Amino acid sequence: MRFEVSKVLDAIEARLTTDPALARAVVDLSEIVRYADLDGGRPASMLRLGLVIDALGRHVAEENVPVYAVVPRGLLSDADLTSNERMVVRRWADDGVVEVVPQVDDRVFEVAELLGLPVLTRGRGEQFRDSRGWVDEPGRLLAAVPGAGGPVLVARVGRGEVPAVAEPSPMGRKLLSRVWGCPESNCSAYGSGGDPDSPFADMRKTTSPVAQAPPALRSGVPTCPRHGTRLRDAGPRPAVEVLSVRIDGIVRKRFVVSTENPVVVGRAPEGGGVMLGQWLTDDARKWISRGHVRLALRSGELSAQDVSTNGTGIRPNGSFDDDQRITLNRDETRALGPTDVVELYANVYVGRAKLWNSGGVSQPHSVMSDAPTMAIRKFER
Ligand SMILES: [Zn+2]
Repeated sequence: MRFEVSKVLDAIEARLTTDPALARAVVDLSEIVRYADLDGGRPASMLRLGLVIDALGRHVAEENVPVYAVVPRGLLSDADLTSNERMVVRRWADDGVVEVVPQVDDRVFEVAELLGLPVLTRGRGEQFRDSRGWVDEPGRLLAAVPGAGGPVLVARVGRGEVPAVAEPSPMGRKLLSRVWGCPESNCSAYGSGGDPDSPFADMRKTTSPVAQAPPALRSGVPTCPRHGTRLRDAGPRPAVEVLSVRIDGIVRKRFVVSTENPVVVGRAPEGGGVMLGQWLTDDARKWISRGHVRLALRSGELSAQDVSTNGTGIRPNGSFDDDQRITLNRDETRALGPTDVVELYANVYVGRAKLWNSGGVSQPHSVMSDAPTMAIRKFER
């Protein structure tokens, strides 16, 4: 049984990120784990994070939707969690997949405001109505409550649509245009601030500068949310574009292309990249090369370069008119307009994430699917 719970926690881990380009909602983990009414179980359980992540996936009808979890340090030693759960949260904290803070206070709301994301919370937010007027905007506060087919998200205002691509606030954009360095040498979130000449510099596990979380603002000064130290401005941050892979009408995955990191998409690209193999039909798998198309961002311009055997299609403005389809042959490159769609095979597309408002799937793959009901029940009681 313990093994299966660990598998679920691994599946949940794959959905945790503090990357501003990929996170779709912000949560206070210490709040979520205490939603005992979601399963009628123990006072605190990490599996509830999985239930809430599933609810978010169903809400936005998309596969693989990640959340930004803020974790108060106290949760790392909370006796209401199992020792296994505490160990897992500590590992997440060390690896920087969650953000650890001395106290949550309004950090969840600060992140949500800077990044333009919804907060998944029950009722908190009233206290910010004056200082953060956006909490009353439709879809900015969503509460996970029990539902017939598992927990559902209920918006306090409006129907609660979550935008396909979040719009950071002006301050958020400003903060995200720089790379930040924390003077603490073991900082996983803003680790570039340590001594680069240290013999241990290569061993530090730090978040890539492109994926750094937004700094906290203390009296207007960018501050490390974990260490409370003033952050050093370490220079301009590489620009990013968020792209989606859409196969047979379903958004399977989002990924980030930055000026520093071009990304190859294909059946099974060598040395990383976006691997489509698992979602392809036999015919598509035969047609699409292991590495098929390379996406790069330079001087604000996104481009596609064919690196395949059979060529890559470009559909200008997403047009399905075959007369307008452009074929790139091997090594040919073309700049992508804002609404251009890259076609690797019929119904296998890559485009900017904002092109597709719906992920196209009503029952996304559950992070809980590795947890037999029996295992959950047994561990909950
Ligand atoms: Zn730090």
